[in-house]
Amino acid sequence: MDKPKSYHMTPEEFRRWGHAVVDWVAAYQERVESLPVLSRSAPGEVRRQLPTSPPERGEPFDAVLADVDKIIVPGLTHWQSPNFFAYFPCNNSGPSILGELLSAGLGVQGMLWATSPACTELEPHGLDGRPERTGLPETLRAAGAGGGVIQDSASSAALCALVAARERATNGESNRRGCDGSLVGYASSQSHSSIEKAFMMAGIDRRNLRLVETDETFAMRPYALARLVAEDVAGGRQPFFVAATVGTTSSNGLDPLPQIGALCREQALWMHVDGAMSGTAALCPEFRWVLDGLEYADSYCFNPHKWLFTNFDCDCFYVADRAALISALSILPEYLKNRATESGAVIDYRDWQVPLGRRFRALKLWFVIRHYGAEGLRHHVRRHVELAKQFAEWVRGDDRFELASDPPLNLVCFRHRGGDEANQRIMERLNASGDLYLTHTKLDGKLTLRLSVGQTRTEERHVRRAWERIREEAERL
Ligand code: PLP
Repeated sequence: MDKPKSYHMTPEEFRRWGHAVVDWVAAYQERVESLPVLSRSAPGEVRRQLPTSPPERGEPFDAVLADVDKIIVPGLTHWQSPNFFAYFPCNNSGPSILGELLSAGLGVQGMLWATSPACTELEPHGLDGRPERTGLPETLRAAGAGGGVIQDSASSAALCALVAARERATNGESNRRGCDGSLVGYASSQSHSSIEKAFMMAGIDRRNLRLVETDETFAMRPYALARLVAEDVAGGRQPFFVAATVGTTSSNGLDPLPQIGALCREQALWMHVDGAMSGTAALCPEFRWVLDGLEYADSYCFNPHKWLFTNFDCDCFYVADRAALISALSILPEYLKNRATESGAVIDYRDWQVPLGRRFRALKLWFVIRHYGAEGLRHHVRRHVELAKQFAEWVRGDDRFELASDPPLNLVCFRHRGGDEANQRIMERLNASGDLYLTHTKLDGKLTLRLSVGQTRTEERHVRRAWERIREEAERL
């Protein structure tokens, strides 16, 4: 009798197509530089090329791959292009892609230590770097009362920090009964929207997030924070949370952690530090000052998926008091009970995050760290900062342009002196050309261009070419 059809891809087919896909990715890395960075796809164009319903009968895999080239690639914006200077980077690297592949191949779900001990135990190994290597203070390390966990994103980290802060401030009451409207928190007017979103999701009126004014470098003014806190206390409200940012999205502003931290300590406020992109800089001793004052933090996060060659998603989130986080997020139904958890000898990371289930993200981060070594990672971080500084020098040397602020690291905010319309035109023409991709923000009420250097394969020639193209477009105004 014939064997019934299994419909599965056999290991032999998997090997064949797996090699083909790895070859495809390697070739993509080689050619991505030549592709238009910003997708030229019109709304609905990708969808129109797809069949209206899924196939009844499975298709050969080469047909699927052919459609990747034909339909998918033209609909992509190439974040891995060395000419990608938009937003903040979201870079990857060979070891991280291979770590991701292996993680998918293993397919483990590490919600509990017991559901895959290695998935849990590798995680602190990659996160808990020695202070002299990483700039991470002892207060956030697992050897003390703290510890780290990999989250999907800085947004999730902010939400977890906020919920833990809310529970600490209300002695666990808000989880039991919801919270009243008296809790108030603070972040600078330049902080990322994920902080406000966390307030929305944590059931705290978003109007209770006070936006603190910033100085000429777009950093939070600590005295303005102190004044707002005092006003709220006088008004009978309960200040409980401050989000400080190390490297704001619009402007790379660096909030002064020592002053903010001292105030938080004095007023018993939870201090969360969002270092989504710029936290990575602390790997280099010469940039470690960006984390000065982090010893005050109750929580901190940075994103290897932005600037540490680890593909999305990977956010490292640390707390000083892991018990506060766990007690805020832990819930243990009968079906998850097990002896290892009961022994108290293991970490169950489900208690450190929003979802129950979790991917084996530590693998890709571990691959990256082992492949590059601290030396290799420092080399690339330094190189990106140098390139940004070089670009800033070129801007300074051209009378038609001005810097919005002195770039502390790898983001340059600059504008043509001709006003918003001129800048908008320059940006649109550059992006439409496909030669490079940059985005804008508003600083001091003016449209400002952002050149963010952090793509894995960006070299001096790419930044130089970007500047040439910007000048060409300025000529055409
Ligand atoms: N915080 C800052 C300073 C950011 O720049 C960003 C994203 O650019 C985020 C938070 C949100 O990051 P994620 O996509 O990991 O939630």
